[in-house]
Amino acid sequence: MSDCLFCGIIQGQIPSQKVYEDDHVFAFRDVQPQAPHHILIVPKKHIAKLADCGEQDQQIFGQLLHTAVVIARSEGLEDGYRVVINSGETAGQSVWHLHVHLLSGRPFRWPPG
Ligand code: AMP
Repeated sequence: MSDCLFCGIIQGQIPSQKVYEDDHVFAFRDVQPQAPHHILIVPKKHIAKLADCGEQDQQIFGQLLHTAVVIARSEGLEDGYRVVINSGETAGQSVWHLHVHLLSGRPFRWPPG
């Protein structure tokens, strides 16, 4: 999608600190990290938010979560990490391209704020 920030990052038009890329998924460091390790994992297919996903997108969830596990392993985060998807403005979503937050390096509280 031409006016989507994360599509621009995937296409290399907007700079990012890339962590991982394959045919389906792209991962990069968050510009405003909320933990010592904060990586965003996004599908290359433009989907605005989790709530927009359909049956045809089921494979994407496996790809996103598998990538989170692979990155957590390669970055040495296996001590503990949190994966988060914000879907919709009320939940805190601010960029309208589906993304998984991978956060680690500090204790996390529950319930989340
Ligand atoms: P969310 O609030 O769940 O939509 O998360 C969007 C995330 O994207 C936030 O954590 C932002 O800090 C992050 N973000 C915004 N612009 C950029 C960018 N250009 N590069 C990397 N991360 C970004």
